[in-house]
Amino acid sequence: MSKPTKATIRKVDALLESAYGKKVNRHRENPLDELIVTILSQHTNDGNRDRAYQTLRRRFPTWEDVRAARVADVADAIRCGGLANQKAARIKEILNQIKAERGTLNLDFLHDVSLEEAEKFLSRFNGVGPKTIACVLLFACRKPAFPIDTHIDRILRRLGWIDAKMTTEAAHTFIRPLVPDEMKYQLHVNLIWHGRETCKAQRPLCEQCVIRKFCEWDRIRHNAFSRYPSASEVAPPGSATHLP
Ligand code: SF4
Repeated sequence: MSKPTKATIRKVDALLESAYGKKVNRHRENPLDELIVTILSQHTNDGNRDRAYQTLRRRFPTWEDVRAARVADVADAIRCGGLANQKAARIKEILNQIKAERGTLNLDFLHDVSLEEAEKFLSRFNGVGPKTIACVLLFACRKPAFPIDTHIDRILRRLGWIDAKMTTEAAHTFIRPLVPDEMKYQLHVNLIWHGRETCKAQRPLCEQCVIRKFCEWDRIRHNAFSRYPSASEVAPPGSATHLP
């Protein structure tokens, strides 16, 4: 593992921008909406998440309607997003907690507090971990958070920016201060694109990778091939077999 410098991160961001385009944050600016969307996104894809959110909002136009509804009815509305019973119970519990603590179903105050205060507030909810918190704060509040999803986690390990033994939760704390604030949104989005299009879990397309020269796993693999090529060495970190 080698901790990346800000200069290296800037170069990687520029190369990813050349491959996947400039990214501007156009997300909703309502932190409560974003929190619910992010909960719905857990363990499913963007399409199912969006369908579940739209169905939920059509059936229950206000968050107060959701709070007053039965868990089973909320679960029915979000069924297409998967884990419906668990997510419905979690959403209702969070809405009840917000109402009890703040007297209103509104989290707009998060815009006006520091990143650390906002993180502390959101971390009190069951099922709301570092990634969900960072999504709400980066997307809706435009704060300098850096969510690490499964694609980003995989790429950062291959690049050698985070240690193999570091948990994803710990990686949030480690990586955030290294990424310049003004590029946190774009780097987050373009790393996800890179994970989907090129640095895939099973068969990364290293030959067409624009950030290959920064990749520790690619370097180790080539050094190993020059000594003793073996089929098992083709598999990258995160798959069944990989280099030690
Ligand atoms: S060189 Fe391969 S493993 Fe490394 S970041 Fe690029 S696609 Fe991923």
